[in-house]
Order: sequence, then structure tokens, then C-alpha cells
Amino acid sequence: MKNKLRILFLSSEVEPFAKTGGLADVASALPRALYEEGHDVRVMMPKYGVISDRKYILRDVIRLKKIAVKMGNKEYITSAKSAFLPDSKVQIYFLNYKSLYDKKGLYLDPKTGKDFANNAERFALFCRAVLETIKILHWEPNVIHCNDWQTALVPWLLKNDYGKDSFFANTATLLSIHNMAYQGNFPPTVLPKIGLAKELGESGSDMEFYGNINFLKLGILHADSINTVSPTYADEIQSNEELGAGLNEFLKARKKDLHGILNGVDETIWNPEKDSFLPAFYSSSDLEGKSECKKTLLQESKLEYKADIPVAGMITRLDSQKGFDLIEEIKEALFKLDIQFVVLGIGDPRYHKMLQALQKKYPNKVSIHLRFDDRMAHLIEAGSDVFFMPSRFEPCGLNQMYSLKYGTIPVVHHVGGLADTITDYTENRNQGNGFIFTEYTGKAFLQAIQRALEEFSDKKNWQKLVKRAMKQNFSWKASADKYVKLYQKMI
Ligand code: ADP
Repeated sequence: MKNKLRILFLSSEVEPFAKTGGLADVASALPRALYEEGHDVRVMMPKYGVISDRKYILRDVIRLKKIAVKMGNKEYITSAKSAFLPDSKVQIYFLNYKSLYDKKGLYLDPKTGKDFANNAERFALFCRAVLETIKILHWEPNVIHCNDWQTALVPWLLKNDYGKDSFFANTATLLSIHNMAYQGNFPPTVLPKIGLAKELGESGSDMEFYGNINFLKLGILHADSINTVSPTYADEIQSNEELGAGLNEFLKARKKDLHGILNGVDETIWNPEKDSFLPAFYSSSDLEGKSECKKTLLQESKLEYKADIPVAGMITRLDSQKGFDLIEEIKEALFKLDIQFVVLGIGDPRYHKMLQALQKKYPNKVSIHLRFDDRMAHLIEAGSDVFFMPSRFEPCGLNQMYSLKYGTIPVVHHVGGLADTITDYTENRNQGNGFIFTEYTGKAFLQAIQRALEEFSDKKNWQKLVKRAMKQNFSWKASADKYVKLYQKMI
């Protein structure tokens, strides 16, 4: 292939090795889609303690047994092992430095529920070590594709520490932002430890942010291009102060280089016709298996199965972003309705408590699963009738697209990627694929749910809606094509 690109894809989480949210799905699917298009893609992530060498058959790479990285006053002797992304020939390298990465959590200490105190050091080292690794491999990338704050130091390092290094003379950087709410803020006192000049912490510098240092800001200012994961979110983070989370002005200043590219659905993982997590398969031409999935879901959720009562599912990080305040607000009215509600999630203890109280109060209607559980996520997508995503903001959102694939109709707040993927059925019965509320209020959310339930009771029309939703195309190929165009423009 003439225009074959060498792309180094950096991510702090990659499915199936380590995952907390949508970034892991993207970091697994997009590299494979780029490989399918004929590009030479390699992925790198930290080797956390949760990643089993045996389960994933990690191999030693002789040249990568000792990767010396200087940071501040210290020399870190790191190493890397490699494997392939599942069912693919995409190579992934796991960067190892035991005392920093060999932990059960990715960003939080599961024992305390708090961020690791040395996250700045952990991810700054990762950014530096990946550059040393590809030098040892003599593999000069055309593009380094960074994702979120954990890898956002790379564009700056290339311009500064590696500014005169001919190895990187033809390497462009893209920073993908998956959520503006996570920026990597630390006190400026960490600067010497992560090998950066104290001046970067001074007021008005490229990294300073309200007296702290901010990894994402530095990335936004120095990456050759930036993108977020939906066109609407790309606009919102420039124009809306809350959604830009303090960095609007910097994003606006880079408008010309800021793009919105919607994520896709990885159909090797999310496909009800061959999803091995499900008790029965189904397709848009034969929905029978979906009722089997609903029965199993309700059984495992200790709720009674009734074909005529709709089940609403929710799978999410338990975070203030995800709209639990609205559920709390409307709970009385919501559970007067004929509806069952199954939630899978883990996160903020505040919402664990809230959901536990909800289940206690409405034991015949609410079932909660407070854990991270891939299989249960697939079962909820398949066994539910409707899916709630009342997110306050949503950069892209993947679960509404998975829901459509599984014939589970989303009820969503009109924001970010939800606005780019869901069309209201009441307003447009020929093209609608979900139920939308625009104002972020409990009342508006409840009205959208009521509209969904009314439609659900009309079995024939509902089936038509379900079948149409399942046929929608969200393949990664279309998104990968957009990334390739952007890479080509950058280099
Ligand atoms: P975000 O990235 O903000 O967490 P997305 O909707 O983009 O939200 O992606 C969430 C991803 O994480 C989906 O693949 C979803 O199924 C998965 N997920 C979230 N919470 C859980 C959980 N408790 N168990 C299993 N999968 C989960």
C-alpha cells in the first residue's frame, strides 16, 4: 500500500487487558480498524497488576528487557513485553515499571478509592518511556496518537526534550480527548520529579492551571491536531464553559485543528448474533432470543419476568456525569410506572448508597449490580427493552450505540455524542431510534420515559422500531477513515 502509515497509539487502558470506561473500547477497536485499512499500528499501555501475563500470553522482547529512561534526577530502568490485540495482528506493548504500575487499580487505589498519589510520576514516566521504546525498536512513527491526559505530555516532549532528535523529525502528534472532566491536575511541586522545568508551573505558562499544573492543557497547546469523540462535543467544549471545564479558551484558540470524530461499535465484541456472553442469539430478522435474554437477566437480577413490563437498563461508571441526580429526583413518579430497572455500575460511593436505597425501597422493580462485569454488561444490553442515558454531558457515549445494535431503545439527554447518534422517535417516526429530552431536568427525563413506555405498549410498532435500530450501521471503518484523513493532513 502506497500510503501506509506507521501509527503509535498510546492509551492508559485497552480492552480486554484493563478497562474503566469507553476509552478502553476505542483503544482496542480503532487500532484494529486502522490495521484492516493496511496501516502499521502499534499500541502501548502500562503493565498494570491486573494484566495477567499468562492469560494474555505476554511475550518477552529481548531488546526491550531494559529501557533506561531519565526523568528528573532519577534513571528508571523500565521494560516492555508484547502481545497482540485479540483476533488481530496488531502488536501491543506493555510498559513495565513494577513499583509504579504493578497495582490492582488503573488510576485509583481500590483500597482507599482515591487517586494514586504518584499518578503524575506514573504517567509522565509512561510518556517518556514510550519514546525511548520506539527508538530502541528503530520504528519511526508518522503519527503518535495520544489519548487523554495520561499521554498528553508526549507532544510537548517531542518539541522540547526530543526537539533536536532526528528520529522524531517526521513525527506528528494527535491528541484525542475522551472526556474534558479528566485533565491530570497536580501541584507544581511534582515538576522536578517528572523532569519538567519549574517555570511550567508559573502563572500564565503552558501547563499552569489555577495554581496547579495540568497535563491536558499542555497537550492541547502542543499537539499538532486535537480531536474529541463526537462533532457535537467538539463544539460544546469550545462554547460551553461547564463542558470545556476551564479550558474553553485554549480549545477555541485551536479551533482550526480541533475535530470531532464519532466512535464506532466493535462488532467483533458487540453483536447479538454471536455474543458468547448471551444465553441465546438473535437478529433483526429473528428476535426470539431477545426474550430469552430478558428472562435470564431478570432471573439473575432477582426480578419477576413479565413480557409486558419493560425493563430499563443502565451500565455506567457511577459518576455525577451520568445523570443519577435526575433518577433520584424522579424516583417516586418513575416507580409508580410499570417498569423494572436494572443497573450495573461501580464508582462514587455516594451513588452506591443511593442505588442501594433505591433497591431497598423498590425491591420488585429495582435491581443493582455494583461491580465491573463484562458479561453482565452484555446481558443487560440484550435483555433490556429500553436503555437510560440521562448524562449531564457525554463526549460520545458507547452504550447508546451498543443498545441500538441489541434492539434496546435508548432514552437520552440531548447532549454531546448522544445528540449525534439518537433521533427522537416521537418527532420522527420514520427515522427516530430513541427518546430524547433536551432540558436537563427530572421532569423532562420522566416525560421521555413515559413516551417510551407508551410506545412499548404498542407491540407491533415497537418491534418495527427495534428492528430498524438493530440495522443501523456504526462500524469503526467509517471513523477509522476519518482518522486516516486527519493523520494524512497532519503529516
Ligand atoms: P465512559 O467512557 O464515560 O465510561 P462510555 O459509554 O463511552 O462511557 O463507555 C463505557 C464503557 O464501559 C462501555 O463499554 C460500558 O459497557 C462499560 N462499562 C461501564 N461500567 C461498567 C461496568 N460496571 N461493568 C462492565 N462494563 C462497564
